[in-house]
Amino acid sequence: MNKLRLIEGNCIRYYSKFSSCKLCENICPTRAIECKVSKVEIYQDDCISCGACVGVCPNEALELTNFNVIDFFFDFLKSDADVISCKTDFVCLSGLNVEYLIALGLVKKALTLDIGYCSECNIKESCFPQIDKNIAEANRVLKSLGFREIKVENLKAKRDKQPSRREFFNIFSVKNIARRKRNFEESLEESGQIDSEVAKKIREKKLPNKRKILLTILNKIDKSKIQNYELFSADEISFTSSKYIDDSCDNCSICYRVCPTSALSSDIKFSKIYFDDLMCIKCKLCHDVCEKGSIDLVNFDTREFFESTQKELISFDIIRCNECGIFFTYKGGEKICQRCKQEEEGALELWGLN
Ligand code: SF4
Ligand code: SF4
Repeated sequence: MNKLRLIEGNCIRYYSKFSSCKLCENICPTRAIECKVSKVEIYQDDCISCGACVGVCPNEALELTNFNVIDFFFDFLKSDADVISCKTDFVCLSGLNVEYLIALGLVKKALTLDIGYCSECNIKESCFPQIDKNIAEANRVLKSLGFREIKVENLKAKRDKQPSRREFFNIFSVKNIARRKRNFEESLEESGQIDSEVAKKIREKKLPNKRKILLTILNKIDKSKIQNYELFSADEISFTSSKYIDDSCDNCSICYRVCPTSALSSDIKFSKIYFDDLMCIKCKLCHDVCEKGSIDLVNFDTREFFESTQKELISFDIIRCNECGIFFTYKGGEKICQRCKQEEEGALELWGLN
């Protein structure tokens, strides 16, 4: 049976041959994943079901067949438990990405990650740096919003009364998951975290579930209690971004056409490019496809978590071409479109007139 499932429609590599996403291949401790042009190859025999690739994938294109992070999330949220350990509750802790950590940190009064088993783990070299990075980033966000940070402890010795990993996987067997699996929106509503209007809005957005969960929980927070908003540098935040488009942009439209979440969008006349920070999953595909290199990252303001706005990144004059009459993006000079200009130059060259 396959251990890892690739949802091709979510994988950024399938959106464009220019995608440079290799996060899953880079973290896999057993080289069970290979990123190729416009595709990803999974070698099931080499996969050890650690879940590290599931944690790093920006668009939830990978799923373990024997463990479901969303089911875990809702079960954990409803339980009194406040410790997550790889041996008792979860697969490798690197599978729990920053968005889930922040969401849990916002809801749970206290949360501890037990890293007691990491130092002796065979896959620590690939996975522990990611666990460390995720916790540091989640804590940086939680602290900036005035929430308690997630504790990291070596609890291995104290937790030997918990079910073994095998027992745990029995609890989360495929059959069990299938029986207990509810659809995502029902789970959210059931958990009492959101009202139905908010749920409806979030459902409409084409976002990975982990982002929907985070937005849902952020929406329930009393923002009057937040004392400060902070600016994070682009490097400090891995799961979303703020962007800037410079004047070299020629409005080719490729960035918002490939964007998997519609974080980048345009108006009906194609005269403006908009950006919505919290819709962005930082897959960097828009950067990869932009031939002119016009898109750049800028500091992220944590105010966006609560007052997300759609920003106009750039606007253009759209006028009719004096030659052929089609609408085009006018950036100064003669009022003729690129195609007419090229045809004119070709003709001049042919007649030796340029
Ligand atoms: S990390 Fe996800 S989006 Fe990126 S190549 Fe791997 S499966 Fe595709
Ligand atoms: S705007 Fe964000 S989500 Fe959209 S392509 Fe760019 S990095 Fe990816």
